[in-house]
Amino acid sequence: MPDTLICSYMCGIVGYIGRRQAYPILIGGLHRLEYRGYDSAGVALIGDDGALNVYKTRGKVEALEHFAASKDLSGCVGIAHTRWATHGEPNDVNAHPHVSQSGDIAIIHNGTIENYHVLKEALLAHGYSFRSETDTEVLVQLIDYIGQTNGCSLFEAVQEATRQIVGAYAIAVIDRKEPDRIVAARRSSPLVIGIGDGEYFLASDATPIVEYTDRVVYLNDDEIAVLECGKPLHVVNTKANAESRIDIQRLKMSISELEKGGYPHFMLKEIFEQPKTVGDCISGRVAADGRSVVLSGLVENRERFMAAGRIIIVACGTSWHAGLIGKQLIEEFCRIPVDVEYASEFRYRNPVVHPDDILIAISQSGETADTLAALELAKSKGAFVFGICNVVGASIPRATDSGCYIHVGPEIGVASTKAFTGQVTVLAMMALALGRMKGTVDDDKFTRVACQLRDMPSLISKVLKLDGRIRELSKIFTYAHNFLYLGRGYNYPTALEGALKLKEISYIHAEGYPAAEMKHGPIALIDNEMPTVVIATADSIYDKTVSNIQQVKARGGRVMAIVTEGDTTASEIADYAIEIPEVCECLSPLLTSIPLQLLAYYIAVNKGRDVDQPRNLAKSVTVE
Ligand code: GLU
Repeated sequence: MPDTLICSYMCGIVGYIGRRQAYPILIGGLHRLEYRGYDSAGVALIGDDGALNVYKTRGKVEALEHFAASKDLSGCVGIAHTRWATHGEPNDVNAHPHVSQSGDIAIIHNGTIENYHVLKEALLAHGYSFRSETDTEVLVQLIDYIGQTNGCSLFEAVQEATRQIVGAYAIAVIDRKEPDRIVAARRSSPLVIGIGDGEYFLASDATPIVEYTDRVVYLNDDEIAVLECGKPLHVVNTKANAESRIDIQRLKMSISELEKGGYPHFMLKEIFEQPKTVGDCISGRVAADGRSVVLSGLVENRERFMAAGRIIIVACGTSWHAGLIGKQLIEEFCRIPVDVEYASEFRYRNPVVHPDDILIAISQSGETADTLAALELAKSKGAFVFGICNVVGASIPRATDSGCYIHVGPEIGVASTKAFTGQVTVLAMMALALGRMKGTVDDDKFTRVACQLRDMPSLISKVLKLDGRIRELSKIFTYAHNFLYLGRGYNYPTALEGALKLKEISYIHAEGYPAAEMKHGPIALIDNEMPTVVIATADSIYDKTVSNIQQVKARGGRVMAIVTEGDTTASEIADYAIEIPEVCECLSPLLTSIPLQLLAYYIAVNKGRDVDQPRNLAKSVTVE
């Protein structure tokens, strides 16, 4: 199994070396990374007096600031971390940074060291003792041991240690004996270096860096970087045992994208951004007259797509729901069979993958461990791999043969909203463009759908005007303990997505179901305590969905229906109706998903939940 298949990092790394005081930069960076999910935080600084000062605590970054407030926070070199525990419970001792027995070296680590147990035994035999239960502490003692026994530099000790460890890591290491440098390394966990004026920034993603510089270098697997104040960046590939070429890229992110912009939560801001983000996603791709749709990733690989015997979509969570919509789009427009798989299941069975298969990996962050592993597996079996991601330069876009970014800007709210509509938009464009290439869609239909895609930003704006009404309805449903979400066809995945949104942020149990399947089980749950949300827009199976609503009503259930403007039947039977503009069936999830996002949001707010950082969840689910 390639080692990229074992990956775990939800937490965050920040580092700074330069002429400024490091602490405020590090704390600001940790706040920017909070959205990733974490349970403890810490910082290590090489103080003005040369001491190595480490402060860490369980809980939020604010708790760390409070704890550190009265301490020595001087120093222009430092590293900081938010931990998402894998080895040892979240507590003060297990929090990072971890310090070597000598007291000289501090490390922060994202990921897991799989052979930590064997290494720990060996180090114990050499007289090392351990304070924490983490795998990370083993790594810092190993670096210390290698440095002491070989009398080598920090860089050399880290290099040798990375040869001995098995697992996934992004690390940053400082040594008070070498106070002018930070050594950083990665395998399967992301690390970005920001290049300032004689200074360097280091982080798990670019969000802590963007306010200081737009010049970044993404470390590759098996690379080690040495960051020294006022000196050129030095990166070595340990596998190739060679100096790496420094590829400086320009960040396109702006600082305002990382702020709430007057909204109480990132999630609400991101819901309201959707007219713009869908607009950005189609910009330059869908022609103004709706006569063409151009995706360079398809055009450049035309032959591969034309020869595709099957498409396999792998994804997790919300992206998997987008994938289910993608299946219907691609099958309808391109007549290519599509399988949609949970990446975590696909990677661990022995799937049949043919060389003429195309695997599409969908991931907002581009770092989802299971999705990355699934694509590596398909690649090893000869499939062509294509990525649909948001974060530019992330691991999945770099591992794929080709791909298409959704271009929706940073998504900070843990519950995905604008990334979902971006993914569905890309899948709709792919279906149109590929259908045109294959001649499986007629021109009229193509133009009709492409024109509606072009008009989608204004259609979404109309749906967002329902905000006040949904907020009112949310009050009626806030105290329910269970919800059922029903939809059919293109809106069956939307029902799944609506239920997922509610679960994630309100902690209310919700199930999404294909409406007709309800009678094979879930109907037994229906009573007036359990609300049912039904997507009953005017489509080819509208009448059937209306029957499903009747079945719920006949059993005393309460129904909230999402219907098309001007609807009379479903809205009459349902207790509450939300009317959205008419749109073709295949694009309707782009509109029907929005009231469901708002409903979940307001219910969670009514319940006083931490909407942007719901318990136990992390933004990029990079633990398998
Ligand atoms: N495995 C390490 C720990 O449990 C690091 C976890 C993380 O990625 O935050 O401390």
